[in-house]
Amino acid sequence: MKAVKESYKHFSKSYLFTEIEARVVKSGSLDLVSLGVGDVSLPLAPSVKNAIIEAVEEMGTRPIGYGPTDGYPFLKKALLETEYAPYNFTLEEISINDGISSAITTMTSLFPKDYKIGIIDPAYPAYQNAARLEEREITLLPCLEENGFIPQPPKEKLDIVYLCSPHNPTGTAMTKDDLQMWVDYARAHKAILFFDAAYHAFIQSPSVPTSIYACTGAKEVAIEFRSFSKSAGFTGLRLGYVVTPKELAISSFWRLRQDVYSNGFAYPVQKGALQALSPLGKEETRAQVESYLQGAKVLKETLEAKGFLVYGGEDIPFLWWKVGGDSWQAFDTLLHKYGLITVPGKGFGPSGEGFIRLSAFLSPAKLEKALSRLETVTQGVL
Ligand code: PLP
Repeated sequence: MKAVKESYKHFSKSYLFTEIEARVVKSGSLDLVSLGVGDVSLPLAPSVKNAIIEAVEEMGTRPIGYGPTDGYPFLKKALLETEYAPYNFTLEEISINDGISSAITTMTSLFPKDYKIGIIDPAYPAYQNAARLEEREITLLPCLEENGFIPQPPKEKLDIVYLCSPHNPTGTAMTKDDLQMWVDYARAHKAILFFDAAYHAFIQSPSVPTSIYACTGAKEVAIEFRSFSKSAGFTGLRLGYVVTPKELAISSFWRLRQDVYSNGFAYPVQKGALQALSPLGKEETRAQVESYLQGAKVLKETLEAKGFLVYGGEDIPFLWWKVGGDSWQAFDTLLHKYGLITVPGKGFGPSGEGFIRLSAFLSPAKLEKALSRLETVTQGVL
């Protein structure tokens, strides 16, 4: 085999979900309930499904080939009119992609190799993984119990900062003041904020903005990433979008990147997304969002009633369960003794140690099964 970069060679060993999968397989148990990967577990909303089928049928009546590499204008326009109505963006400032994961990790390719990257810790593993593969210099920004899981701007200058709110994995969300603090830091240090708003549709707290552009000056410093994955159950369809405000003067370069690396995204999926933004689509997907949040509430109450300390769950269906010690050990106990698949906090970064993340993206049947198992977990066993 030809030589590959060292960063790739040493990578697979530390990939979180590969390690979880290996431990699950090794356990040999077939009767497991997964509160692990945050994947959707409800079927597509009916009107969204129908819109996709209609688009496929349309493709059977006339040829629809490559679309615009940054997405169809019908979808971009609908996004600007619904999700971004208060912010007056233009079609040039929004582009479609195949989901946040690829967009937020490859956006760095626009920026110089020596840019200093700040990444919240713990965090969605892709941010750090991509930076490591690219051999970038990174600074971790701890989200700890002591700071309410809100990352604090460092004294030194960073060039790019990854933020996520509501936050996977800690389940907490940044208020407008918290976000403004970062926008002010970025303006003062000429930094760029990569704002991951994957869970914007789950926000319930009035103090938590659904977009970073609610903050003064955010258009000068922030790129916002969203997708239909969690808001409309598109994890298996793949569709996201990114806002690159004209103040940052990078839209044309991002479009260039799309032109070079992609030939666009599926027409039927974009039609399904358009339907998800319609009043009926919104009503249907909102019911799913509420169902997941309700699951989070019940899971949290169940653990709290047993005396455990659990964070999150209000603005995102993830719970951050304080187990105190070694989170891989707690993971193993939950797996072997209770038949529960979870995610050890340490897998999201060093500051996640001492916690277990539970996903409430559960169908009602799975939720019930999970609850009956969690009921039997006793203090001191983890
Ligand atoms: N960002 C966060 C914080 C996530 O939790 C996830 C998925 O779990 C993603 C991004 C991936 O989103 P997408 O499916 O749009 O790639």
